[in-house]
Amino acid sequence: MRNITHFIGGEAAAWSGARTGDVFAPTLGQIQAQVDLGDATTIDQAVANARAAQPAWAATNPQRRARVMFRFKTLIKENLEELARLLASEHGKVISDAKGDLQRGLDVVEFVCGIPHLMKGEYTEGAGPGIDVYSMRQPLGVVAGITPFNFPAMIPLWMLAPAIACGNAFILKPSERAPSVPVRLAELAVEAGLPAGILNVVHGDKTVVDAILDHRDVKAVSFVGSSDIAQYVYGRGAANGKRMQCMGGAKNHGIVMPDADIDQAVADILGAAYGSAGERCMALPVVVPVGEKTAEVLREKLVHEIAKLRVGVSTDDQAHYGPVVSAQHKARIEDYIRMSVDEGAELVVDGRDFSLQGYEQGYFLAPTLIDHVTPDMQSYQDEIFGPVLQIVRARTFEEAVSYPSNHQYGNGVAIFTRNGDFARKFASEVEVGMVGINVPIPVPVSYHSFGGWKRSGFGDLNQYGSDGIRFYTRTKTITQRWPSGGSVIDQSFVIPTM
Ligand code: NAD
Repeated sequence: MRNITHFIGGEAAAWSGARTGDVFAPTLGQIQAQVDLGDATTIDQAVANARAAQPAWAATNPQRRARVMFRFKTLIKENLEELARLLASEHGKVISDAKGDLQRGLDVVEFVCGIPHLMKGEYTEGAGPGIDVYSMRQPLGVVAGITPFNFPAMIPLWMLAPAIACGNAFILKPSERAPSVPVRLAELAVEAGLPAGILNVVHGDKTVVDAILDHRDVKAVSFVGSSDIAQYVYGRGAANGKRMQCMGGAKNHGIVMPDADIDQAVADILGAAYGSAGERCMALPVVVPVGEKTAEVLREKLVHEIAKLRVGVSTDDQAHYGPVVSAQHKARIEDYIRMSVDEGAELVVDGRDFSLQGYEQGYFLAPTLIDHVTPDMQSYQDEIFGPVLQIVRARTFEEAVSYPSNHQYGNGVAIFTRNGDFARKFASEVEVGMVGINVPIPVPVSYHSFGGWKRSGFGDLNQYGSDGIRFYTRTKTITQRWPSGGSVIDQSFVIPTM
C-alpha cells in the first residue's frame, strides 16, 4: 500500500499516519493508497516555511520568476504520460481526458510566463502641478488554494501558477480523493527551480481547511468545490479578513433551437453530458429543446447515439468515459435517477444496471437519459454530477432562457442555433457566467477568466486571466512631487483638488 504524504519546505514530509484517508482506484473499486490527513499543526509548519521563503521570491525579478514557470511548463510536458496515468488511476477518467485536464492547467502556466508584462502598473505624468501618480501590484504574501477531486491537475494549476508567478508563496490543499498529482506537480516545480517553501501541499479534510481559514498569516484563499462548502469557506475566510474567491457547483443547460444543426448539437451534447462520467462543473446535464418537434427529433437521435457509447477503464483508448469517483458517489447518482422517476419524469435510458466484465467492483454507470423533467423537481434543482442527461422541454425561446436564468446555479450555459439574433439576445440576457454559442463547454481560454454566477461563484474576481493576477496581488498607488527649491508652496487646509 502506497502512503501519500504532505510536501512542505521543498520535500516530502515524514509519514505521520495519525489520521489517514483511503484513496480508491475507481476502476477496480479498491483502496490503492493511504493519504496523511493534516491538522492545524501541519498548516502551521507549511505557513512557517512559506513565510520564510516568500520575501526573497517576491524580490526575485519577474523575468526570473517567469523562467521558473517556463521550466515548470517544460517538465510537466515531459512527464505528461506519467502524470495522466497517475491522475486517471485516482480519478477514473480516461487517459486522453486526463491529458486534457493537465493541458488546460498548462495553458495557465503558459499564460503566467508573461508575468513581467501582466504585473505592470499604471502611470500618469502631471496629474497636478509637478505631480505624478503611479500604481504597482504587489504580492499578498502567503496564500492558499483548496481544490475538488474532479480536476486534480487543472484546478490546482489555475490557482498556484498565477499566485506563485505574482511572487506569493502558496499552500495547496488538494482533494483527499485524488492527492498524488498535486504532489508530483510540487516536486516538478522544485525541479524547475522554485525555491523550497514557495509551493507546499497539505492533504486533509475539513480540519485542514478550517486551519487555513483561521490562520492569520494566510492572506487569500481560493476555493473550488460544491456550493454549500464554497459558501461556508467564503463566509469563514471573509469573516477572518481574507480575500476570498470560491467557486461552487453547477447545473448547466443546453438550449436547442428549432434551427440548430441537430446532428452537431447531438454530438456536442453527448460529449458534454457524459464525458468524464458527467463529473465536470462545466458538464451539460440539462438539455432544453424548444418546440415539440425539436424535442422529439433530439430525443430520438440521443437514444440512437447513446447506444454506441462505450464505458470502460481509463486505459481503454476506445472508451468514451470511465467510472465515477467512489461507491458513495455512485449510490448518490442512482438515488437521483430513482428520485426523477418518483417525481414523474420518464426514464428513457437507464444506466444503472451496468457491469464491466473483469471490473465488476468498479464504480461504473452507463449513460442515463431522462425526459419530461420539470423545474419543480428536486432532481432538476440539484447537481447530480454523474452520467445523467435530463430533457426539459420548452415551448418558446423565452421559456427556454428562463430555465438557466432562474436556476440556483449559474456556471455555464450553451445555445445551439443558426440564428445570430437569438444567440446575441441569449448571451446578453441569460443569468449565467459563461456562455457557449454552439460551443457545449465554454470554459474560457487561459487569458480570459473562469467564473460562474449565483451559487456557482462567491466573491468577485474569477479564476486565471487578468482576474487571477488581480486576485493574487494588491494595488499600491503613489502620488509624488519632488521639491524643485524656491518658495514654499502654500499648504492648503482643504482636500487637494486638481
Ligand atoms: P467538495 O465540496 O466535496 O470538496 C472540495 C474541497 O473542499 C476538497 O478539498 C474537500 O477536502 C474540501 N471539503 C469537503 N468537505 C468540507 C467541509 N465540510 N469543510 C471544509 N472543506 C471541505 O467537492 P468535490 O466533490 O471534491 O468536487 C465536486 C464539486 O466541485 C461539484 O459540486 C462541482 O460542480 C464543483 N466544481 C466546481 C468548479 C467550478 O469552477 N465552479 C470546478 C470543478 C468542480
